[in-house]
Amino acid sequence: MRITEHVYQVSGIIYGMNSNVYAIDTESGVILIDAGYADKQYGSMMDVMKQYRLESKVTAVFLTHAHLDHAGNAYRFEDKGAEIYIGHKDKDALSQGGPAVLEKQFGTRFHTCQHAAGVKDGDFFDFGDVTLKVIDIPGHTAGAVAYLAEADGKVILFIGDMFSLQGATPQDEIIIDPGWDGGPDFDAKKNVDSFELLKTLNPQIIAPGHSSIYIGDGQGVLKKAANTAKERYRD
Ligand SMILES: [Zn+2]
Repeated sequence: MRITEHVYQVSGIIYGMNSNVYAIDTESGVILIDAGYADKQYGSMMDVMKQYRLESKVTAVFLTHAHLDHAGNAYRFEDKGAEIYIGHKDKDALSQGGPAVLEKQFGTRFHTCQHAAGVKDGDFFDFGDVTLKVIDIPGHTAGAVAYLAEADGKVILFIGDMFSLQGATPQDEIIIDPGWDGGPDFDAKKNVDSFELLKTLNPQIIAPGHSSIYIGDGQGVLKKAANTAKERYRD
């Protein structure tokens, strides 16, 4: 699905897959945000990318965190020569696998990446027509990051598993579902702080790691998300 002229959603529930993968077609090649889970999802996302002639141009994969449903296919792109980026505090999980990537929960072997580069808050990538800024959002994992992209005149915030959203009656309300909090390095306080940080941003598009994207008053949704998180994790 095309989100803007150069930004695509290439995996997720609209294609029958659990986690979202986004592709941005830049002057310096195609960059992916997350890489999806296992064989089935990889096949599906490559089919979608073929429709848009993106499949052979992937030069970089930016992971939001190391959990298997987002990082499980990163090794395939590393093998093909793409640069893999991940929050520096999730880098060991990506290179070692095991409990930190939820190998047992997903019941499948995690293929590690040995040459990923660690990114940290404030790192900035310029792809010519597209820019990407790293924002540390620890909580869901120790090294979780969001990516704030500017592309096609839009500000797009990729949030990984920070939260997902769904609609509700009767007033077309948005229900925020904070990301799963059962991981071995989940930190409730850091998570709430990360929500507070994100609500200072005002993206036109929010692109989560699961569920649907949001287009509209991004800051309004981020403020609502921060309130939801505060209530959920109040001690
Ligand atoms: Zn996760």
